[in-house]
Amino acid sequence: MAILPILRYPDPRLRVKAQPVARVDAAVRRLLDDMLETMYEAPGVGLAAPQVNVPRRLIVIDVSKERNDPLFLVNPEILEREGSIRLEEGCLSVPGIYEPVERAERIRFRALDREGRPYEREAQGLLAVCVQHEVDHLDGRLFVDYLSELKRQRIRKKMEKLRLRTL
Ligand code: ZN
Repeated sequence: MAILPILRYPDPRLRVKAQPVARVDAAVRRLLDDMLETMYEAPGVGLAAPQVNVPRRLIVIDVSKERNDPLFLVNPEILEREGSIRLEEGCLSVPGIYEPVERAERIRFRALDREGRPYEREAQGLLAVCVQHEVDHLDGRLFVDYLSELKRQRIRKKMEKLRLRTL
């Protein structure tokens, strides 16, 4: 397994619409495992392939306290959204920034797992928010897009400074 570099906002590669995966083969499984390791190491609760510069519809999530309950979403699709919830969100591509975003509180989604088997499940609260946040990444959308223009500009400036410091 390997730790992959994570793209940072406002990198334009985070805006690319990711393509579906045709087959879950060994290469896809290796990438999912690398993404999981990268997410645990960061540390974060979710990571989408475009964040590691792979424009494919792949997501890893683990919202468990023990960090031992990984969820793999290949070609995910949100089927139903219900209610609303406002949680403070962060993103590994926008480090150090946490802002409340309104999302559906309960969702039903389907995806393929790490073996390529289809599954369908319901999620609520943090997991529901996390799935919506990560699926947004696959469509080139970031949580900062839900904030005001002014807030987004401030975050952009902060990220540019951070980038200069870490170069
Ligand atoms: Zn994110």
